[in-house]
Amino acid sequence: MKILVTGGAGFIGSAVVRLAVSRGHQVVNLDALTYAACLDNVAEVADSPLYTFEHADIRDPAALTRIFTTHQPDAVMHLAAESHVDRSIDGPRDFIETNITGTFNMLEAARAYWTRANTPAGFRFHHISTDEVFGSLPNDPAQKFTETTPYDPRSPYSASKAASDHLVRAWHETYGLPVVLTNCSNNYGPYHFPEKLIPVIILNALAGKALPIYGDGSNVRDWLYVEDHADALLLALEKGKPGHSYNIGGENERSNLELVQTLCAILDAKRPKAAGVYADQITFVTDRPGHDARYAIDPSHIRAELGWRPSVTVEEGLERTVDWYLANESWWRPLQARQGVGVRLGIKDTDRA
Ligand code: NAD
Repeated sequence: MKILVTGGAGFIGSAVVRLAVSRGHQVVNLDALTYAACLDNVAEVADSPLYTFEHADIRDPAALTRIFTTHQPDAVMHLAAESHVDRSIDGPRDFIETNITGTFNMLEAARAYWTRANTPAGFRFHHISTDEVFGSLPNDPAQKFTETTPYDPRSPYSASKAASDHLVRAWHETYGLPVVLTNCSNNYGPYHFPEKLIPVIILNALAGKALPIYGDGSNVRDWLYVEDHADALLLALEKGKPGHSYNIGGENERSNLELVQTLCAILDAKRPKAAGVYADQITFVTDRPGHDARYAIDPSHIRAELGWRPSVTVEEGLERTVDWYLANESWWRPLQARQGVGVRLGIKDTDRA
């Protein structure tokens, strides 16, 4: 299959590109190369005859028309987005323009291309979204997000993703475009940009810096290993029913504090400190405004319909992740110099120290 992947130089998109090429798919990677992108993420497939890169912006409709016409994809996997909640608090405009208008441009370019091709039933527009569109859950294990949970986004990021999900569904209902949606929980793993919690903790720990935990660390997330996620995404693309959405979770709920303590214990075993333990570096900092308490995915739909389950526990995935960061300093070191990395973002000016 020839797949047009948007955002393929980012964290999850690059895992999809690597896996798709390894399974023999042709991949066109469309990416604007924002601050969050890194072409080294796809270096292992860059010379493959199955791989092509298109440096383009989904805010540019003419570029999208050209790319669809040139490459004639069988399917689209749309991951390009502004993805960092803290940045969305400081500057929501890019989130509106890329996540909402950019998705609209992708849908229109895909619809025009699909219509010109006489509306092939096998075409797919797979939109990759987040469980954050469902809002925040109480700390009650009986309550989880299902595919029918009402939308209740609470940050500029999640609101922009919710809007994009609604557009994708509307293009299916109104124009018949064969879409599939997936909403996943928090991803982690190799090539995670060093502004997100898990790489921040690993890299700050190694540098002897404070390990910042927002609020009291009680916020719960359902951690999904990125390579498991890429596997689920390709399955949803190939086997998902048009017009359906699938929640993808890691079946690994942990509070932020538990997660950081686990990372500290892994680092204590692999790279012991001269004195003390990494947990000594934990520091509680001002919470994110509107910080959602808990996200948790009910994985029963994708399990029953597509037979998919995650392959690793969060402890196994974190150990692999720590190993990867220890072995790949040449990847993460230059990224730490990028704008906004290592700086506290997303708090109200009145809360700034
Ligand atoms: P990322 O920030 O690592 O990568 C995003 C990629 O999109 C980058 O390569 C960037 O250059 C590209 N991009 C941004 N704006 C663009 C534009 N206007 N035109 C073209 N390319 C553009 O993001 P990620 O963590 O890999 O997330 C990928 C998708 O998965 C996003 O849609 C995100 O909302 C969704 N998602 C992520 C998570 C997570 O835990 N990371 C969880 C749920 C959903």
